[in-house]
Amino acid sequence: MNVAFFDRDGTIIEDYEDHVWTGVKEPVFIKGAIETLDHIQKQGYSIMIITNQYLINEGYISYEQYEAINSSMLHVLKEHNISIQEVFYCPHRRDEGCRCIKPNIGMIEQALTSYPEIRLDHSFIVGDSKADVDLATRLGVRGYGIRITNEQPNVTLIDTISDLQFVINKNDK
Ligand SMILES: [Mg+2]
Ligand SMILES: [Zn+2]
Repeated sequence: MNVAFFDRDGTIIEDYEDHVWTGVKEPVFIKGAIETLDHIQKQGYSIMIITNQYLINEGYISYEQYEAINSSMLHVLKEHNISIQEVFYCPHRRDEGCRCIKPNIGMIEQALTSYPEIRLDHSFIVGDSKADVDLATRLGVRGYGIRITNEQPNVTLIDTISDLQFVINKNDK
């Protein structure tokens, strides 16, 4: 199983400052995200989401609010025939010292436990934060950083999620 691991906030749907999330009820898709997920799926990748949701344990949003935004997002994706294999999330506070908050590798470990057939060397990680590309680096997995400035050998920097459609084609040829 080849997996495209996507960050959620700021990558697939809009991200906000922490305090603004408190009032967010519905996901707003980032331009090009749906088309890109569709493209990636058609390249034979299973899509999984790995998302830091420290907002939950830090009290900005409730678990129910997280879940509502998530299911609403998944519902829209399903209408576009995009199936998300699994969503892994870390609810812990940033100072909680958990194993799953990116760039720690816990959520990828959870994915490997649930799906031992995942071939990490044929998978990649995409996100708009340093934590996302640092996670890719820790694992030695191919990474794509959206508007990220730090250069790392295994990471390709891109401007928008739509760029992924071209990059993935290129790399697969
Ligand atoms: Mg993000
Ligand atoms: Zn965690």
